[in-house]
Amino acid sequence: MTCFFCKIAEGKMETDKVYEDERVIAFNDINPQAPTHILIIPKKHISTLNDLEPEDTALIGELLLVAKNIASKLGFSDDGFRTVFNCNVHGGQSVYHLHLHLLGGRQMGWPPG
Ligand code: AMP
Ligand code: ZN
Repeated sequence: MTCFFCKIAEGKMETDKVYEDERVIAFNDINPQAPTHILIIPKKHISTLNDLEPEDTALIGELLLVAKNIASKLGFSDDGFRTVFNCNVHGGQSVYHLHLHLLGGRQMGWPPG
């Protein structure tokens, strides 16, 4: 199985990277839905939120911490932002490697479509 986000995590595929550490990488979404639209992923392959194990708790927290830090660095923390995990078909997931969407720079709507 070819997982494109694993390839990005392994540095085998070009991406517009905005952050990286040992466990996490963040890059700009190729089809942005807001002025800032960044995907934050674990380097470890986890397909969906349904596949999370207790041992992944810290890793998931780290994704959110990275989102917070990027929002702060890019200057939209105070205005606010949206973070989203889409899960499976009803959640609208299209890439089956867990990713946290970070959207900022415009007013978001609610409820989501
Ligand atoms: P989701 O629909 O929640 O699975 O989100 C997948 C996201 O990945 C979409 O917003 C796509 O635009 C984005 N995407 C897919 N392939 C790439 C890629 N190679 N680089 C950056 N973003 C991507
Ligand atoms: Zn993967």
